[in-house]
Amino acid sequence: MKHINDYYFWFLTGSQHLYGEEALKKVASDSEEIVASLNKTQELPCKLISKQTMVSQSIIERTIMEANLDPNCAGIVCWMHTFSPAKMWINGLKALNKPMLQINTQFNQKIPYSTMDMDFMNLNQSAHGDREFGYITARMNLPRSILSGYWKDDRFKIKMAKWMRAAATTQAGHSMNVIRFGDNMRDVAVTDGDKIQAYINLGWNIPYYGIGDLVDIMKDVTESQIDSLMNEYQKDYDIIDASEYNIEHIREQAKMEIALEKFLIDNDGEAFCTNFQDLHGLKQLPGLACQHLMKKGYGFAGEGDWKTAAMVRTLKMMAEGLDEGGCSFMEDYTYNLEEGKLYNLGSHMLEVCPSIAKGRPTIEVHPLGIGDKEDPARLVFDSKPSKGFTLSIVDLGGRLRLILNEIEIIDPEEKFKKLPVARALWKPLPDFYTATECWILSGAGHHNAMSTALDVDYITYYAEMNDLELMSINESTTVENFRLLDKLNRSAWK
Ligand code: MN
Repeated sequence: MKHINDYYFWFLTGSQHLYGEEALKKVASDSEEIVASLNKTQELPCKLISKQTMVSQSIIERTIMEANLDPNCAGIVCWMHTFSPAKMWINGLKALNKPMLQINTQFNQKIPYSTMDMDFMNLNQSAHGDREFGYITARMNLPRSILSGYWKDDRFKIKMAKWMRAAATTQAGHSMNVIRFGDNMRDVAVTDGDKIQAYINLGWNIPYYGIGDLVDIMKDVTESQIDSLMNEYQKDYDIIDASEYNIEHIREQAKMEIALEKFLIDNDGEAFCTNFQDLHGLKQLPGLACQHLMKKGYGFAGEGDWKTAAMVRTLKMMAEGLDEGGCSFMEDYTYNLEEGKLYNLGSHMLEVCPSIAKGRPTIEVHPLGIGDKEDPARLVFDSKPSKGFTLSIVDLGGRLRLILNEIEIIDPEEKFKKLPVARALWKPLPDFYTATECWILSGAGHHNAMSTALDVDYITYYAEMNDLELMSINESTTVENFRLLDKLNRSAWK
C-alpha cells in the first residue's frame, strides 16, 4: 500500500537573467532557506525539493518534463521571487501533468521602510512576479491552486500540508487498483458509473474478479494464520459472547480477511468492493473482515460501489498520520425528525470502519436480515462526536460530481439496545432541511465516504487539481443558491 510520505514535491523558483548574477545568487539562497525551513516543520507530510532557479524556457521545460517522469514527485510548487516573464513558462506548463500549487509569498515579512532602496524592491517583488505567472496559468486554464501568505505563518504551512496531502493522493490515484468482487448490485443506479472515464480522469483501474477467485485463496488459509488474526482482534475489540458458535463465526471472518488481504496485496489493490448478491462459496457476508481491513487503510464500499470504495481509500491516504479522527464507508439510513432534534442516522448492513468509533468496539454475531447466508460477525459501536463531512461521488453521465456535506457527529440521547451494527448519528450543516434538500437535489447517493479527520479544504484542493466539480453544503448554503449553482455547473462542467 502506498503512503503519504512516499511522495515529495519539487519547488520551482521563478526569476530571469535581467537581474544579474548577484541578484540570482540571492534568489537561489532565499529559496533554499524557505525550502529548508518548511522541510523542518512538523506540519508538512512530504518533503520539498529545491530545483535550480527557473530563468529560461529550456530549464523550465526540462524540469517540468522530469517532474512528470518521476513517479514519486506528486506535483510542483511554484514561487516567483522576482518577475519571471511568463512566456518562457508556456512550453513547460503545457507539458505539466501533475498538480501545481502557486505560492504567493515573500522572503521578507515586513516592508523595511527606512532601509529599502530600488535594489531591494527589484529583488523582493513576488507581488509583481506572481501576478505575471498567475496570468499565464489563467490564460492556459490549468488546474491549479493558489496559496497566499507569509511562509513562516502557521496558516500558510497548514494549508500547504493540506494541498500536499491532496496532491500525493492524486498521484497515488494514478496507480490505484480498485478490486471488484462481483459486479454492481443489480438494478441500483447511483453505485454504477463509467469506469473507463474514471480511469482516464483519475487513473483508477477498477478490475472485476469473480468471488470464486477469493474462495480459492480461502482454502489455503491455515488455522495458525486465523489464530494470530484472532489475537489481533482481541487487542482492539471485545468479544462480548465467546460461545463456541460465535467464535466459529468470528474465525470465518478472520479467514475471509486473510484471503482478502492476500488477494489485495497480490493484485496491488488498495480498495475493494463486495456484493451481497454474489457470495457463492462464502459462508457469511464479509463484515468484520471488511471493517478491520478499512482500519488498516484499505478503501471499501458495499454492493459493488467502486466509486465510494475508491473515495474511502483516497480519504484514508489523505488523512494518514493525522492525530484525530477517522474515515469510513457510510450510508444514510434513518432520520430523527423531531423539531430541534433533526438527525441523520448512518450505518450499513455491517461495514463501518472502527477508525470513527467511540471507545472499544464489540465483536458480535447476529443474523443478517438480507442475503440468505450464515450469521456474520461484525463490529458494533457508536461513533465519536466530532466535526466532519460526508462525501458522495456520483457519475452524472460523462463526468463525476463530488458533493460534500459538513456535519457534526453527536452522541445518541438514548442507547441503541437492539441495533446490531456500527452507526453514526449526525447533524448536517447548515440545518437538516437545507442539507438534505441540497444533497438530494445534487444527485448525491445513499453511500458516502465519511471523514472526521479531514475538512473541506482538502477536498477543495483535490477537486481543483483533478478538475472535478465539487458542490459543498455548509454553514452558508441556501437551497436557492445551491439550485442556481447546480444549474450553472451543469453548463460549466460538460
Ligand atoms: Mn449500501
